[in-house]
Amino acid sequence: MKCIKDVNFKGKRVLVRVDFNVKLDDRKNITDDFRIRETLPTIKKLIGDGARVVIMSHSGRPKKGGFEEEFSLIYVAKHLSNLLGKDVVFTQELLGDNVTNLVNGLKDGDVMLLENIRFYPEETKGDEAFAQRLAKLGDCYVNDAFGAAHRSHVSTAVIAKYFPNDKYFGFLMEHEVINLQRLMQNPQKPFTSVIGGAKISSKISVLQSLLNISDNLLIGGGMVFAFLKAQGKQIGKSLCEDDCLQVATDLMTKAKEKGVKIYLPIDVVVADKFANDANRKVVDIDNMPPDWLGMDIGEKTAAMYNEVILNSKTILWNGPMGVFEMSNFMQGTKSVAEATAEATDKGAFSTIGGGDSVAAINLFNLSKRVSYISTGGGAMLEYLENGTLPGIEAILN
Ligand code: ADP
Ligand code: MG
Repeated sequence: MKCIKDVNFKGKRVLVRVDFNVKLDDRKNITDDFRIRETLPTIKKLIGDGARVVIMSHSGRPKKGGFEEEFSLIYVAKHLSNLLGKDVVFTQELLGDNVTNLVNGLKDGDVMLLENIRFYPEETKGDEAFAQRLAKLGDCYVNDAFGAAHRSHVSTAVIAKYFPNDKYFGFLMEHEVINLQRLMQNPQKPFTSVIGGAKISSKISVLQSLLNISDNLLIGGGMVFAFLKAQGKQIGKSLCEDDCLQVATDLMTKAKEKGVKIYLPIDVVVADKFANDANRKVVDIDNMPPDWLGMDIGEKTAAMYNEVILNSKTILWNGPMGVFEMSNFMQGTKSVAEATAEATDKGAFSTIGGGDSVAAINLFNLSKRVSYISTGGGAMLEYLENGTLPGIEAILN
């Protein structure tokens, strides 16, 4: 792998793509800076070498083209400056004389953050002319944005070709790839995948590829109801994508052929409305009341899932088991998180990915007790599906 570790970047202008796409609260505080902190080893190594570090990132999905206050990286710049204990030059532009002058005025060890790269619509279109202009700001290119590496955008992939001999993976990227390779190549068995979250439609292809590496597939979250409805069960008003019932049936058939065991809930916590203060009760899966909706896996299901997890040597978890943001419906997710931590204590290798899943593991204070937390949701899933990503290929080839 072409990693930064063996290179000295002294005096070089290094363009670093990171994923600083973090959530802010109403007072513009960063609620979870995990993705920022994970890039610090790369940034500090470059500062230590005496490089002139020019960082680029996206934030959210600005649509207008041009500056939009709510997607500005200015608050991230302040936070980064605090984390590094040094000034971070911030510019509200990406291109133009002003930026060029600022970059060329950087001294060895200085750090600069460019404004949200998606303020330029050319970024997501993969525009060549834009790539060429952006590339002029650096002598070297480092990709440390695993969370965005499944995108063939300018700053994540297209730009790399302008640095044929000077493009590298940052430490975060290297770390992610090593861990995910470990998951896919000769993982210790039994291999259990725990998949939840809201929608089955966003995870169909990964479910399909997980059938190739998993021994057990534990299903939770909103996607459960597509499987249950496909089996002819009454699911009340639960979330369900009706156009995915055939997909669910096909997945179950495929699993049987491959000898993969799919587990579905045997009981479920139902509510009379989608709110934390709803009336709730636990019912067996065959007794879902018609006007209620499924919000979490029930206790019996959690116990069954925990036993499978505790007997596994490799665990991959993506997607909460229920609406964990509401305290009355977080128990299933918490219980699975605890079982994963316990299995890890006993020697299993566990990986967790996905924005909400990572938020959940942090909420339960269990992040130190799992083997690996990926900074990628979509990127992790796509890596598991294809064994590589556009952002990785752009550095390697
Ligand atoms: P991740 O970000 O970890 O990949 P997803 O984005 O796929 O996870 O899914 C997370 C969302 O799924 C959460 O907001 C959670 O509230 C929701 N969810 C989980 N279970 C249910 C359910 N039974 N009904 C509706 N939404 C659910
Ligand atoms: Mg999510």
